Amino acid sequence: MNPNFLQTPIEYLKGVGPNRADLLKKELDIHALQDLINLFPNRYLDRTRYYKIGELVKTNAEIQIIGKIVSIKTVEQKKGKRLVATFTDETGKMELVWFRGHKWIRESIKLNVPYVIFGKANWFNDHFSMPHPEMELLEEHEKSLRSAMQPVYPSTEKLANRGITNRVINKLMQQLFFDAKNSFSETLSKSLLEALKLLPKNEALFNIHFPENSKLLAAAQYRLKFEELFYIQLQLLRKNMLHKSKIKGYPFTEVGDYFNTFYLDHLPFELTDAQKRVIKEIRNDLGNKAQMNRLLQGDVGSGKTIVAFMSMLIALDNGFQACLMAPTEILSAQHYNGLIEWCNKLNISISILTGSTNTSKRKKIHENLENGTLHLLIGTHALLEDKVKFKNLGLAIIDEQHRFGVAQRSKLWRKNERPPHMLVMTATPIPRTLAMSVYGDLDISIIDELPPGRKQVKTVHRFDSNRLQVFRFIKDEISKGRQVYIVYPLIQESEALDYKDLMDGYESIVREFPLSDYQVSIVHGKMKPADKNYEMTRFAKGETQIMVATTVIEVGVDIPNASVMIIESAERFGLSQLHQLRGRVGRGAEQSYCILMTSHKLTIDARTRLETMVRTNDGFEIAETDLKLRGPGDIMGTQQSGVLNLRIADIVKDSDILKIARSYAFQTLKEDPSLSHPDNLPIKKTLAQLVKYRNIWNYIS
Ligand code: ADP
Ligand code: MG
Repeated sequence: MNPNFLQTPIEYLKGVGPNRADLLKKELDIHALQDLINLFPNRYLDRTRYYKIGELVKTNAEIQIIGKIVSIKTVEQKKGKRLVATFTDETGKMELVWFRGHKWIRESIKLNVPYVIFGKANWFNDHFSMPHPEMELLEEHEKSLRSAMQPVYPSTEKLANRGITNRVINKLMQQLFFDAKNSFSETLSKSLLEALKLLPKNEALFNIHFPENSKLLAAAQYRLKFEELFYIQLQLLRKNMLHKSKIKGYPFTEVGDYFNTFYLDHLPFELTDAQKRVIKEIRNDLGNKAQMNRLLQGDVGSGKTIVAFMSMLIALDNGFQACLMAPTEILSAQHYNGLIEWCNKLNISISILTGSTNTSKRKKIHENLENGTLHLLIGTHALLEDKVKFKNLGLAIIDEQHRFGVAQRSKLWRKNERPPHMLVMTATPIPRTLAMSVYGDLDISIIDELPPGRKQVKTVHRFDSNRLQVFRFIKDEISKGRQVYIVYPLIQESEALDYKDLMDGYESIVREFPLSDYQVSIVHGKMKPADKNYEMTRFAKGETQIMVATTVIEVGVDIPNASVMIIESAERFGLSQLHQLRGRVGRGAEQSYCILMTSHKLTIDARTRLETMVRTNDGFEIAETDLKLRGPGDIMGTQQSGVLNLRIADIVKDSDILKIARSYAFQTLKEDPSLSHPDNLPIKKTLAQLVKYRNIWNYIS
């Protein structure tokens, strides 16, 4: 076969032509033969089974029936017309319905001749009706090959309306295989094929489109899924390797006085083993010539802040500056207030820069950053402004990285001539398989252990009708000296409504908890930063017992005496958000509680979310459930979904294959970084082609 055969434009395939080519390009992104052959079936149907109209049940499944069309008529409806045919077999009758393409159908349909129709039979107004069936004359149908595993290809409404049915795609595929003489070049190395007992490329492609039996189909699916995931991982890992060889960092060779003094004299608690391990990983990276790009994952409350601080101390020990960026003013202020104590003991100068820092302070900060007398800078997005210039930024840390975009990360990169070491932290656990794909080019550290003595937060689900009991419980806890958060949803689309909910809620709380006995704080997005800060501080100092808030307190806030978290309209929150909010309590020595309040009307998904929260406190388990409920695209945001736009593999269902693919990709690159071993030639070629053809790097950080 001509090596460029698969790059042949699709219009040159027999049976395609310019019109169909146009549709295939627009609707399915099929430009060349290569794209067609990689259009994998969504599923397979048993086309050896025929149903009778009399035995149909209301399942909405796709079925095929043999029968005749006895009449056909146009019916006027409110919007446009529909074409309705009466279809019968010896057991009954049903309707076939078309909303479009009437002319073409009327012209091509034959009455009282046996047809095989195929589609979804819906129960509608007391009879079965099949919209836009696929149809074939029985006579022709009998000539065609039928199997119990007929592929069903992805399609669109437009394609179906314009006559490019599943059958047509199937025929095109046959043509393609005929032209190719079934000789597709192998894309994996011999040693991989052998080690994993994979089907050769040829057989895999043939069996995915024309399965000979279910065993071969399964083997074909496995091979193609593996290949897809293997190449994604190979590209990600290669990017990471190239990055390390090309981008020089600042090797922090010293672990000096700051770090050691802090470690020996000021450490406020014994570090957990996980914290120690992660600090070691970071220290190793920082000591290397290559620039560090590391993701630090750790559940809420696992103690990432101190890891961040100790990493910054290493930068300082080597004469560099460091910065820590957080997504909100509240969180920045909290970091600053937490770190300043340690900094004073160590004689480190630290400042905070946010949107509300006044001009004179801001000027001073800019000056001291540039002349190097300011060592540590904490702040919000304000750090990204061009005016913020460092003398020698050696380490940049981003807290709650999922709140920032990729562009913002790269802006920090460019703060220096040579990019600083980067540590991005996230407390929204990302399932491992997803992290491998989306952050596959970063090195990952995980803190998988909570500091000792933490009591599990007790979580319950209560309905609005239990509110009085909940109030009583809050009063009890407050009388024991505890503090309480009450959180309302704030989702952008319905901001005005949510705001009203919050205010109504606040008023009812103030009524229930009168000012003579209780102090209530309120914090929401519409308040000025200074006012927010004032209220947060009052609550943090224990001057108020109840904090009514929106999700502005979602991330990072650390007030150990607060032990009750009430989440209102909990059914409206996503799982990771609920988990984050719950993470605001359980930070002190006292037993903490999380109460999820909802109405009685709950969707199945909402019920699953609530049950998951009640069942477990494990962030990674929650993340897995979240991934299953929402799918990978929604979790990572559309931005990165390109990487997740897979042809055959499924990150959730095929996580085992993903792990194997990543480890083999890693092994392959480790043994042969330039892929110049003869056995790796097919891999080298395929990779070059991929990079040229569909560059996934665009999609990745
Ligand atoms: P997160 O990972 O959510 O950012 P933090 O860094 O805010 O967690 O830590 C949560 C709380 O746990 C803080 O009050 C912190 O001082 C405390 N903490 C962190 N590490 C330890 C430890 N090893 N032992 C005891 N307490 C710790
Ligand atoms: Mg934190």
